[in-house]
Amino acid sequence: MKLVLPGEDMGNEEELFPASGSYLENGYLKSKYVGRCEISAKSVHVIPFKRIFIPKKSTKVLAQIYDISEPVALAKFQINARHSADSGDFAFLHITNISNRFLKTIREAVKPRDIIYASIINVGKNIEISIKGRDEGVILAYCGDCKRPLIREDYILKCNVCDTTETRKLSPFYDNYRGVIKWLNH
Ligand SMILES: [Zn+2]
Repeated sequence: MKLVLPGEDMGNEEELFPASGSYLENGYLKSKYVGRCEISAKSVHVIPFKRIFIPKKSTKVLAQIYDISEPVALAKFQINARHSADSGDFAFLHITNISNRFLKTIREAVKPRDIIYASIINVGKNIEISIKGRDEGVILAYCGDCKRPLIREDYILKCNVCDTTETRKLSPFYDNYRGVIKWLNH
């Protein structure tokens, strides 16, 4: 069994076909979900993790940044969720719940497509999340140009293909995101 994250490459179009839970982008098959990747008859399926989830304060979650409209980012739960990503639960991440340092814009710290490790801080009408905690933040980010995963080098992220660097509010789990997924699903 192989764990995959949204946007993760699972092979190229010359060898494999996209089936459920996968899509084609720039010649590569990518996952739509946090889930289990299965390949049968050259078709790639991603089976999303599903679990009954009742949002509670201080619950740890994984989410993917879906859109940013300053000063708020909209994130979709990808794990510990009752629904798969297509009908996922949304949470709001306010600029003041991202970092202890002052941010002018959310994009200094998170960008659309990023996978974040967060905690729920409010379960009122809207679910609100925070990534201010020391262990929280971005656990996987994709290059803004070529969409390939960025490689961590100390406090910056590098794209080896485009030779560019980006910054994020990083979680210490950036290099160990599979461990986080396993822990959340145990
Ligand atoms: Zn790139």
